[in-house]
Amino acid sequence: MNIKEIKLRIEELRKILEKANADYYEKDMPTITDSEYDQYMKELLQLEKDNPELISQDSPTKIVGGKVSEKFHSYRHRYPLLSLGNAFSYEDLRTFDNRVKKALNKADVEYIAELKIDGLSIALIFKDGLLIVGATRGDGDSGENVTHNILKVEDIPKTIDVAGEFEVRGEVFMDNKTFDDLNETRLNEGLPLFRNPRNGAAGSIRQLNSDVTRERHLKSFIYEITYSNVLDYKKQSDAIKLLNNNGFNTNERFVLGNIEDIIEFCEKLVVERNNLEYGIDGVVVKVNSLADQIEMGYTEKSPRWAIAFKFPPEQKETIVENITISVGRTGVLTPMAELKETLIGGSMVKRATLHNEDYILEKDIRVGDTIVLQKAGDVIPEVVRVIVEKRPYYSEVFKFPVVCPVCGSEVIKLDASIKCTGELYCPAQLIKGLIHFVSRDAMNIDGLGEKYIEYFVKEGLISTPVDIYKLTKDDISVLEGLGEKSANNIIEAIETSKTRGLGPLIYGFGIPLIGNKGAKILAKNFKTVDRLMAATSEELLAIETVGDKMADSLLTFFKEKRNLEIITDLKYLGIVMEDDTKNLSEDLVGKTFVITGSFPGYDRKELTNLVELHGGKASSSVSKKTSFVLAGNEPGSKLTKARELGVDVIEIKEFLKKIGERQVEDGYNN
Ligand SMILES: [Zn+2]
Repeated sequence: MNIKEIKLRIEELRKILEKANADYYEKDMPTITDSEYDQYMKELLQLEKDNPELISQDSPTKIVGGKVSEKFHSYRHRYPLLSLGNAFSYEDLRTFDNRVKKALNKADVEYIAELKIDGLSIALIFKDGLLIVGATRGDGDSGENVTHNILKVEDIPKTIDVAGEFEVRGEVFMDNKTFDDLNETRLNEGLPLFRNPRNGAAGSIRQLNSDVTRERHLKSFIYEITYSNVLDYKKQSDAIKLLNNNGFNTNERFVLGNIEDIIEFCEKLVVERNNLEYGIDGVVVKVNSLADQIEMGYTEKSPRWAIAFKFPPEQKETIVENITISVGRTGVLTPMAELKETLIGGSMVKRATLHNEDYILEKDIRVGDTIVLQKAGDVIPEVVRVIVEKRPYYSEVFKFPVVCPVCGSEVIKLDASIKCTGELYCPAQLIKGLIHFVSRDAMNIDGLGEKYIEYFVKEGLISTPVDIYKLTKDDISVLEGLGEKSANNIIEAIETSKTRGLGPLIYGFGIPLIGNKGAKILAKNFKTVDRLMAATSEELLAIETVGDKMADSLLTFFKEKRNLEIITDLKYLGIVMEDDTKNLSEDLVGKTFVITGSFPGYDRKELTNLVELHGGKASSSVSKKTSFVLAGNEPGSKLTKARELGVDVIEIKEFLKKIGERQVEDGYNN
């Protein structure tokens, strides 16, 4: 073959293999046999090897590893991915140092400090040089098999020169520039923005279309050799070198030294971290010697020889461009600082809540002020202080409005919060209340979202939930932008919602403190809205999940005449007000449970919720009336008592089987 023919053959082979990959990975429909695939691959590899000038970065030889049988399934890690203990101060690092020295009985210990990349932890498994699995950290024991997407991360080698089984771990991340570009594109396309580069990376890896992953230009830093049959090294710093020599991208910004050297490194990074091209959220400090690591070993949760130094919350200066007031569903006026947009703590921030009037006055925050903004991890950004020296000469003390900015009603001050007195007339409360009423977990009226609620309210079509059920096709189809077809769809969805059942309806009322789960439990226990409305404080409090405040909130709501009118009207219009949750088992209805002992992986409170969600009653003491005792580890005297009284004792497994664990999960997510 001359060079032209070789080129043509290479192109042909690449096309065949790319198609085979697409058929296999994306369409899940293999079109050639494995041995054919291997033959084409072998031929292409040989041609590329003989003609290195024709190698291309997106050749299938570069992007394809072994064929994995699972696509987006769970992957059980051979060794769990542990988390690290945290150090929040340099003192914590010195304490760690003392602990290490004592355990190893050494006066000097060499540490390695590596950047803690703010990305997505991954494990890469190779077999005889081929990448066969890429998996996320997941819960540490099992992650998600995301091999098809890992294959599209350019800097991860798909073939390496290491024999046998080989696993490495590292971090996949999105650099700041890519993140900004991605969000700008998404903004133009009207798509929701990623909150921070870490979400961007996670969202790109944990999705099904691997073409998208390729477009996201993710990068990786690999920092750990988890196991290898052939590679030998004595120090973590050597492991990084080995990884780098074998084609992995490694982060070279690490230092070796004693704890004071490490602290100096941390101090430097606290200042410099904003100048890096990627986000970091700390520094990982490890004992460098592998033998020492092995000697120290692990606790149940983390290695004893490593610790993560966490940066103090990031602070940044920005400008308060305006202070706006939003009126919540409950009528509370909340001031927001509209800020000059700034990247802080890994995400773009342009607003910060100012909580209430007192908060603003105390800090004397004014429009035009330069402020210090702080953000720690996923915590919401907060204003630390005003830099008074930078205050413009014309600034004025902020005056909190005396009327609701939405409806013009007077406001009243209750404790620290200021409330609109417009109650059911205030469109802010009304619109949000109605949006909540039709939302997915409430009445789930598809097609009647935020946009239409606002529109219909503006057009004077609806002002209470009752009006929704009085809507006719003609009311809707005459509106601009809505035709017969949309009108039909909306009316149909409204009709369907009538049978949503009691739980979603209660939730839809938007009673303060009554969430989705609480509403379900109430529905299950009271069965009809009438019984719930008639419930006394004692009856409400008899439900373990219901506390004083929840009970008060319910009683107040059902005392309000206007609310009762709405409920009566809804009933008249045919809305089902009984509990008919068929997906939950009925086995526990009327039964009394006593839960005792501990249940690894389950919260006691959660189990109580489950019992009540399924119509049972949770009680704290065993008596003859007890139907079952649910016994966990170290159950104690309650179990003894149950045995004495001849009460049935069941274990968690049996309990979950009784209620159908799968259904429970559904029940929670709905
Ligand atoms: Zn108002």
